[in-house]
Amino acid sequence: MQPSNPLKPKLFFYTLMSMTNENKCAKCGACSVVCPVYQASGRESMTARGKLHLISRLDPGRASRLYAEILSKCLLCGACSAVCSRQLDPPAIFAAARHHLNRKAGEHRFLRSLTCEILGNEKMLQKIAGINRRALDALPEASGLRLRFGLGPGTGLAASIEVGAGAQAATDSPLNYFTGCYAGHLNLDIAKATKLLAQKATASAPAISAAQCCCGLPAHSAGDLTTARALAKKNIAAFAFNPNPILTSCASCYSHLLSYPHLLADDPRWQKKAQDFTGRLLEFSSFFQQKKDSLFFRPPGSDGADNKIYYHDPCHLRFQHKITEPPRQLLRRLPGFIPVEPEHGATCCGQGGLFHLAQPELSATISDKLITGIQHTNASVVTTTCTGCLLQLSREAPRNNYPVAVKHLAVLLAENLT
Ligand code: SF4
Ligand code: SF4
Repeated sequence: MQPSNPLKPKLFFYTLMSMTNENKCAKCGACSVVCPVYQASGRESMTARGKLHLISRLDPGRASRLYAEILSKCLLCGACSAVCSRQLDPPAIFAAARHHLNRKAGEHRFLRSLTCEILGNEKMLQKIAGINRRALDALPEASGLRLRFGLGPGTGLAASIEVGAGAQAATDSPLNYFTGCYAGHLNLDIAKATKLLAQKATASAPAISAAQCCCGLPAHSAGDLTTARALAKKNIAAFAFNPNPILTSCASCYSHLLSYPHLLADDPRWQKKAQDFTGRLLEFSSFFQQKKDSLFFRPPGSDGADNKIYYHDPCHLRFQHKITEPPRQLLRRLPGFIPVEPEHGATCCGQGGLFHLAQPELSATISDKLITGIQHTNASVVTTTCTGCLLQLSREAPRNNYPVAVKHLAVLLAENLT
């Protein structure tokens, strides 16, 4: 759908032009070396350099299907921004360009639009999650559907947790908990484990606002900035009842929540609120690494077996926030586990928000590289803090015939507490 104001497309194009400012791109190619999509496709047009060149020459508002397709082939992982010699932020430019395309970029756009609609509507999400949970609870432990939804073998931790609607919203709790959609609605083990760890760390139950909703990352990735902004405002208002820090167990949510001031930059009424909100955010592994002295882990089992364990770096944490050490420091404190690293270091899992829906073949190629690397370490457990990565790894490891246990770091830590 084109904007109704005839001036708008042109203005938008000039804004994009100033963001890309082709003269600023040195065409050095540093972004090609690190781009997972380029590595998987071998096509220059898929690099940040290629896409920036395209955007600087052609208004996305007049995009052909091929143009839209090229724009959709980006994970918004930030690897290019981290190495860009001119300090450009290509993912921000691509997200803005996708907004102009109005969700028409790429294949499987109906599925992507539907996903955004569901995640953007808390009531619909609760209903669907309720139906799913009841159905999934009845599944046998070894069911492939458990793996499909990233539920793992089931730890029994979720039996009694109450998060999301009707949850506790204490105004005096020292800590708030932003669950995110996955922990709050589908995999309650993560929320229950995070709650337990937070209780140990602060000697008090965290406050969980029932009014919180999707962070808005899927909508933002799909270019639906209107929904992304509306969700941002809802979340800021949802956590206004308690002024204390806000912990989140999802790396991608954390990263997107931090972008609220930028997302609401044109709205003076929300700018200060957005800044205050982001100033209260706590990243999961950094928070618990600081509170490590309040967490006591039990010694290894009587068989004394050491499990090789791999921590997967979510791209958002690795590139945007350079948070790679705290989760590894936490793992080193776990008796009975030996942390391992793949020979070629950390790589992307290929999930990329809704990228795996839009580009399933490319997504699978990117994840195959990661899974093969982990497989060579003989790790029996993989852990991470991003729910998108968790879902991708839970789905892709069995597809590669790799029977590895995939667990959120919160569940892993909680399972091993004394
Ligand atoms: S790294 Fe930056 S300056 Fe170099 S080609 Fe890529 S976008 Fe252009
Ligand atoms: S954000 Fe990631 S996938 Fe997209 S162009 Fe940059 S490096 Fe490639």
